[in-house]
Amino acid sequence: MTALSNYFQIIEGTKKAGFLLCKDLKEKAESAREILKSCHLCERRCHVNRLEGKQGFCGVLEARVASEFVHVGEEPELVPSYTIFFSGCTFHCVYCQNWDISQYPFRGEYIKPEILAGMISNIRAKNVNWVGGEPTPNLPYVLDVLTHLKTNIPQIWNSNMYLTEESMDLLNGVIDVYLTDFKYGNDKCARNLSDAKNYWEITTRNHLIAREQAEMIIRHLVLPNHLECCTKPILEWISENLENVKVNLMDQYRPEWRAMDFREISRKLTHTEFQEALRFADELGIDLIER
Ligand code: SF4
Repeated sequence: MTALSNYFQIIEGTKKAGFLLCKDLKEKAESAREILKSCHLCERRCHVNRLEGKQGFCGVLEARVASEFVHVGEEPELVPSYTIFFSGCTFHCVYCQNWDISQYPFRGEYIKPEILAGMISNIRAKNVNWVGGEPTPNLPYVLDVLTHLKTNIPQIWNSNMYLTEESMDLLNGVIDVYLTDFKYGNDKCARNLSDAKNYWEITTRNHLIAREQAEMIIRHLVLPNHLECCTKPILEWISENLENVKVNLMDQYRPEWRAMDFREISRKLTHTEFQEALRFADELGIDLIER
């Protein structure tokens, strides 16, 4: 079966959350809530009690939905996609293009899980796309919503993949497609630009776990001056470690938020840089998404 027909199967048929017994989903939601008492949903492992109002690095307490709408600009395999944007993020990327929600965890509104489940049931879309900011701090909430869901619709986890293994385990059997944002090819760039430690080990581990669990599309935003240190190592790792995944190489970088303070990313990507990224991916036989 080709990768593309796999994606059709996801969209039309395989809907994992719907196959889980409600009891199993409730147990997962309960386990996720327990993690909030000493939060280690992501590898920041802040160990704050979020149920008592203590904030960790992401600042998220209750789930805040910044916006939700049927997105038609995602990968062609996925649209129309009911996209739910949470406020707050486990990363502080200095060039974040969604900084107005990712860095402000209290923006947006709390929607009761049963209400959001009803909204999902009434929407005409191929899937539900959990994103942000970052969905990870809101994993217990997402599982709560799914326990109320009456419709069997594929679930997409659109994430920086900085989750703990405990969180990855909770997503097992729930998520149909991991839509990952693979940013850096080494720890130094992750530390400098996203304030994230041990990035490479954590995110490569999670990509391998995710591919065992579900289908996967990998996004990589090509950054100016980061071809050799980030884009090429990422593409090489994908070609050596993951089969049947599609990769979306993205060229739309523009300096946002604090990017002008970092000289190497204070400009747009050049045509030459992006062509080199495409050439390198082609040389490795990467299955690129055509847009
Ligand atoms: S989800 Fe937030 S509070 Fe929890 S470990 Fe990650 S950054 Fe810290």
